[in-house]
Amino acid sequence: MNLDVSLMDKIVSLAKRRGFVFPGSEIYGGLANSWDYGPLGVELKNNIKQLWWKRFVRSRDDMVGIDTALIMNPKVWESSGHLKNFSDPLVECKKCHARFRADQLGGACATCGGKEFTPAKQFNLMFKTFIGPAEEQANVAYFRPETAQGMFVNFKNVLNTTRRRLPFGIAQIGKAFRNEITPGNFIFRTREFEQMEIEYFIAPDDDWQSRFEEWRVEMRAWIEDIGIDLAHVHDAEIPEEERAHYSKRTIDLEYDFPFGKSELYGLAYRTDFDLKNHQKFSGQSLEYTDPDTGEKITPHVIEPTWGVDRSVLAVLCDSYREAEEGKEKRVYLKIPAKLAPYKAAVFPLLKNKPELVALARTIYDDLRKDFMTAWDDRGNIGKRYWAQDEIGTPFCITVDFDSLEKGDVTVRDRDTMKQERVAIKELQEYIGGRI
Ligand code: ATP
Repeated sequence: MNLDVSLMDKIVSLAKRRGFVFPGSEIYGGLANSWDYGPLGVELKNNIKQLWWKRFVRSRDDMVGIDTALIMNPKVWESSGHLKNFSDPLVECKKCHARFRADQLGGACATCGGKEFTPAKQFNLMFKTFIGPAEEQANVAYFRPETAQGMFVNFKNVLNTTRRRLPFGIAQIGKAFRNEITPGNFIFRTREFEQMEIEYFIAPDDDWQSRFEEWRVEMRAWIEDIGIDLAHVHDAEIPEEERAHYSKRTIDLEYDFPFGKSELYGLAYRTDFDLKNHQKFSGQSLEYTDPDTGEKITPHVIEPTWGVDRSVLAVLCDSYREAEEGKEKRVYLKIPAKLAPYKAAVFPLLKNKPELVALARTIYDDLRKDFMTAWDDRGNIGKRYWAQDEIGTPFCITVDFDSLEKGDVTVRDRDTMKQERVAIKELQEYIGGRI
């Protein structure tokens, strides 16, 4: 593993400078470990979510999507075991009272170097709030720490409205909240983040091991699809004592982040734990009736889960490139074109030639109807290329004097820096065919 702490600094700085990710509440001195996505970051993040939705929901006939509330009936968290078990071991440095997650402690206090800690006590990670104006125990509610429970409590609704047959999955993309003891590493671990999750329901007598394996393959294929080199991803089998309370088997897909190998995604076999508990606590049947035999069963669940923010971070880390070009250093993001915030940028060769600007503007206006397109008329062409390279724009289009006569433009490729002439009327197709 190649630890490159400076890469992290470069990415955080690029993210801020170019509008991918800003420190949260910055004008008030920030709020520790909170981040806001800027104009380019929201495009990258949305492209990841849309690609995921298309791949795992729309293009499969064994999957449906939902979008459920962030605050659910608190009984959900009692039944799911989160109230009792969703905790991390917390220790306090005896010298400076800084608090840490015991399982992530390097041995010495990261704040003062102290080596003595209080015994670990379990700290529940759920964010508490109150529903309505009275702040009393009866009104306590929690922000969801995972999207998964939305799928379980709606299992019957989905079944009744879609008539899906096993095996099938319910997918959701949405925010989750965890009062992490030690957030950090930029958007890697925050207290508010987004997940893309699937609860894949299978018959109890189905071969869960091979379903698990199918999902492991799917997750790896997704990682490749978002341009991450699989050589940087490692599967870690999680031993029983470290698994979540509901899981009979868990694999973490770990990525070589610049700060070390850490969980990118997870895959768990949740058995029938959640559906069974919700049946017990709600008194409602969440059974599935086999349409052929009439037999009633409680399905088991394979759960692949993806962090959206960790996806963004891994895509940025894996695509960051520096290349020596003569005396200068070219920085570019080699992101798959389909994820790039801008698909193209349009430049008039000279900004003081109205006829060049007018033609470039027409091209820019046309392309924008189909693709996120940038406009730049500042400085020289070389500088404009480099500015687009740094944000991963795959194609730069320059309108020059030949364009006026011949109706074509120069298209320059981000990765190879090769240029070719393309007819203006074919630009739409040219770009569309490459993203
Ligand atoms: P970790 O061990 O890093 O705390 P976890 O095993 O608790 O993570 P899961 O419960 O499996 O995480 O959550 C599913 C996915 O949600 C993770 O694989 C990760 O991508 C994302 N995720 C979890 N916690 C956070 C967080 N605090 N900030 C950002 N993303 C997170």
